Amino acid sequence: MILVTGGCGYIGSHTVVELLKNNYEVIVIDNFSNSKRDVLDKIKTITNKDFKFYEGNVCDKNTLKTVFENNKIDGVIHFAGFKAVGESVEKPLMYYRNNLDSTLTLLEVMSDYNCKKIVFSSSATVYGEAKETRFVETMKKGIPSNPYGKTKNVIEDILEDLYTSDPTWSITMLRYFNPVGSHTSGLIGDDPSGIPNNLMPYILRVAIGELECLTIFGNDYDTPDGTCIRDYIHVVDLALGHIKALEQLFNLESGIKIYNLGSGRGISVTEIVTTFERVNNLKLNYKYGSRRKGDLPSICADPTLALKELGWKCEKTLDDMCRDAYNFIQKQRN
Ligand code: NAD
Ligand code: UDP
Repeated sequence: MILVTGGCGYIGSHTVVELLKNNYEVIVIDNFSNSKRDVLDKIKTITNKDFKFYEGNVCDKNTLKTVFENNKIDGVIHFAGFKAVGESVEKPLMYYRNNLDSTLTLLEVMSDYNCKKIVFSSSATVYGEAKETRFVETMKKGIPSNPYGKTKNVIEDILEDLYTSDPTWSITMLRYFNPVGSHTSGLIGDDPSGIPNNLMPYILRVAIGELECLTIFGNDYDTPDGTCIRDYIHVVDLALGHIKALEQLFNLESGIKIYNLGSGRGISVTEIVTTFERVNNLKLNYKYGSRRKGDLPSICADPTLALKELGWKCEKTLDDMCRDAYNFIQKQRN
């Protein structure tokens, strides 16, 4: 049985779908701090399968103990955490408290119940302001510029220390690049509350007329078209990366692993915008504005290790990401 913390969120819900499709027995714990209850039924509709759900806070030890006491949990995928970069700058204590507490509490309870297999949601942000534009796992970690990123850095360190103290653990840290897109059903996806900070949710709001105009942050970077380059990954590909990581966890006796999950292809903001327009046959209202503080010109994954050791690579295209994301927002609003 696999426990998925934060399984009602954007990446968690897509991963639960793929776990159920792969016949895993799943338990989800979520406190809906950044998701909605109806996601549970949507996952069941997509998969035609049922799973157990606990509403609760992963920071709460008693709740977690109940979950472990009443279920035979073989491994955990830990998504629960706060993720908004800007908000983390304004509310650092809230971010450190939630992201660190949830992880520490989870690891303590796992240890108590002798469940020592965990996949952790890390992020490309741990590379910090690296000079390189292609990030490989062997690179030294950097210092993220915001509290959110720092929580990921610290949690990676905690997991390393835990493994050093007890090498019977199996730990996999997945460093995600930029997840976008949705399940093809259009039932689940990324629809943040308030004005989105991330590119694709912002594009979607402009596309459906809820926001007037996308500002592209800077077209004077030293990149081919002057706009920033990122490595966008379809969320279903990302979810499948977790299935591969789990398979490896159950095949290996123990160990600690880090994998980049990205496509290996850099895409500029302008390329996303023009692809979105072409695939969805519409015109986006956009303008070029000044650079956003803290943005690096170009970031891309080297996903070689994930292919070599997990047999995983991105299968979906930028066209898929743009089409599926738009399909989701239209279904949401209908
Ligand atoms: P999300 O906010 O959509 O999902 C997180 C889920 O966890 C939500 O359903 C929320 O209600 C729940 N949650 C938060 N704190 C909790 C707690 N203490 N107890 C119980 N539930 C709690 O985020 P996401 O995009 O699905 O991201 C999942 C994970 O992946 C996060 O750890 C995030 O930092 C990491 N990550 C995300 C991205 C991205 O761009 N989306 C990139 C890199 C890493
Ligand atoms: N971006 C933009 N306009 C927006 C939001 C984002 O031009 O309204 C750009 C941003 O500068 C970056 C890219 O889109 O180059 C991806 O930004 P996002 O916040 O989605 O992810 P990040 O890589 O910054 O975590």
